[in-house]
Amino acid sequence: MITKMVTYTLPILPYPSNGLEPIISKETIANHHGKHFAAYINNLNKLTPGSEYEGLLVEEIVQQAPDGPIQNNAGQVMNHRLYFEQFIPASQQKAPSVRLTNAINFHFGSMDIFKKQMTEAAMSIFGSGWVWLAKDTEGRLQIVKEMGGGNPCRRGMTPILGIDCWEHSWYLDYAFDKKAHYDNLWHIIDWDVIEGRLPL
Ligand code: MN
Repeated sequence: MITKMVTYTLPILPYPSNGLEPIISKETIANHHGKHFAAYINNLNKLTPGSEYEGLLVEEIVQQAPDGPIQNNAGQVMNHRLYFEQFIPASQQKAPSVRLTNAINFHFGSMDIFKKQMTEAAMSIFGSGWVWLAKDTEGRLQIVKEMGGGNPCRRGMTPILGIDCWEHSWYLDYAFDKKAHYDNLWHIIDWDVIEGRLPL
């Protein structure tokens, strides 16, 4: 008997584990990527075999599964893939391209206003959740708040940039000053990755 095996695997980080210091410490990376993200992957590998979601892409599971453990873990796998691949060491950060800057300016007024609104949205999350820059079905860029492991792709939107608002993303490095964490994240965003997610 041939059994179809589809396993979800933990992506390798596109930077060294200390590459985002001092904004995100290597200890936080070890916990967040190596433990939390790995746990969501392991959970999905345990939950999907034998279900109707076996063998699907993570994005398909997020779009199709009802609320519950499969949705929660698939959502967090998708979210953390997007999250960890969107960073770059601060010393290597380049300015956003003209196309991306124009899109942000058009929808938010300026890059500074956009960053301020994203940070305010992140600060307003009560409990665990995410804030996304997402493109809606009519082509508008929006700031979207999600609770738990939510992703705006469930409502047909395209996620572009995500801020993880779970305590595990900042507490070890920032204790009670989560705003400093959110403010500092702008120094390690890889704008080329973000532009790559922006549909033409
Ligand atoms: Mn997280």
